[in-house]
Amino acid sequence: MHTKSLNELSTALHNGDISSVELTQHYLDRINTYNNELNAYITVAEDHALTQARAADVQLQQKTAGKLTGIPLAHKDIFCTEGLRTSCASKMLDNFIAPYNATVVEKINQAGMVTLGKTNMDEFAMGSSNETSFYGQVQNPWDNQAVPGGSSGGSAAAVAANLAPIATGTDTGGSIRQPASLCNLTGLKPTYGRISRYGMIAFASSLDQAGPMARSAEDAALLLNEMAGFDPRDSTSVEQDVPDYTASLNNSLEGLKIGLPRQYFGEGLDPEVAATVEAAIKTYESLGATIKEITLPNSHLAVPTYYVVAPAECSSNLSRMDGVRFGHRCEDPKDLLDLYQRSRGEGFGEEVKRRIMIGTYALSAGYYDAYYLKAQQCRRLISDDFTQAFNDVDVIMGPTAPTTAFKLGDKKDDPVAMYLADIYTISTNLAGLPGVSIPAGFVNNMPVGLQIIGNYFDEARLLNVAHRYQQITDWHQQSPEPFK
Ligand code: GLN
Repeated sequence: MHTKSLNELSTALHNGDISSVELTQHYLDRINTYNNELNAYITVAEDHALTQARAADVQLQQKTAGKLTGIPLAHKDIFCTEGLRTSCASKMLDNFIAPYNATVVEKINQAGMVTLGKTNMDEFAMGSSNETSFYGQVQNPWDNQAVPGGSSGGSAAAVAANLAPIATGTDTGGSIRQPASLCNLTGLKPTYGRISRYGMIAFASSLDQAGPMARSAEDAALLLNEMAGFDPRDSTSVEQDVPDYTASLNNSLEGLKIGLPRQYFGEGLDPEVAATVEAAIKTYESLGATIKEITLPNSHLAVPTYYVVAPAECSSNLSRMDGVRFGHRCEDPKDLLDLYQRSRGEGFGEEVKRRIMIGTYALSAGYYDAYYLKAQQCRRLISDDFTQAFNDVDVIMGPTAPTTAFKLGDKKDDPVAMYLADIYTISTNLAGLPGVSIPAGFVNNMPVGLQIIGNYFDEARLLNVAHRYQQITDWHQQSPEPFK
């Protein structure tokens, strides 16, 4: 049951071959068996899930159910869920129960899906390995000594180990695509503004975007159908119609123009990962695509630009976690300053503090022009590179991450090495473009992801390009042995 696609699960539920309660219980049992080891879930919502499943079963019996009614999923613990803890993997929000649902959660609830629980992540989504979580590291289901990637590492591990058929994630600099790559999943970061950010705890507001983490492009398309759309409660959400993302999955790729950025195949890329990604891209020729080298000359600016913009925005966003408005409050403060200092000192982990300090510095009078303003200028150069490239090609392809999953602890004490894990994903966030990572093969039994970047609002094409590849390959169908 736990290896079935969303389409198969939907058919089974609608035919009455299985009830949503049975399906949900099956996943809860698996979580019970495997979660101690993987640590993929922070909160398992057993009662909540079974209540939703019972309601779904009524709809299924009454034939009023939609496509995804009764199918379980997991939410990254960054989405506010009414009545269920939303911790953002921080001690700060260890006891936080939001009084409302994020728009994404609300829409998915309306579709009749069942929330199994909330998944582990890097604290406030800052990290690439899931090691900054207050609730501890997550294991990669493919190798228990390796990281699952981050920051949506819990969602990635949960889906890869078949502890959820699909999950939500968020991507500020790569946090959907990089863990998808490291865990053999299809992870899509949509265009900035495609999905509402309302109720998604903000890290860097101009970069954050939610998206599906799935086993296939087809599954991702089905969930994206429910997640996408304008929301008057998010001023950055875009008022643009949502196509049916499943409608174009089978379109022919005859004549598709693929661009390969020279800069994505240079120094720092593991040679075996490079060879795997190149072989995957070559496969597209057999589907009728043409491949051409392109240049994104300002790519080298992406990591430094991101590490000014993202910390600057996070320092502002996280100021609400002060022990008064939100967050952990210290014991017996002696005055207001002591309350702020100790509450924040105790509540935030090391990486979050580092980012707040960098961001506060970059935004301070006297340094603003040198750092934040300069970073905004670089950001424009990076996005102009893509605009230029999309004059000549339909999609851009390259690796998602420079290596396969690294070992737990390997980069923990070296922030710059950690930051470089997102070298190929960060630019699309800076430009606001959509990108997807899909399984493309293995190096030493560890998954490798192919990244496909599209033009603004071209998610349907990205999913089509991903799906055609998945029709002729079976990398995405591989599951890690212990969790089959
Ligand atoms: N790894 C990047 C960071 O640490 C990206 C995180 C994300 O996309 N949320 O900021």
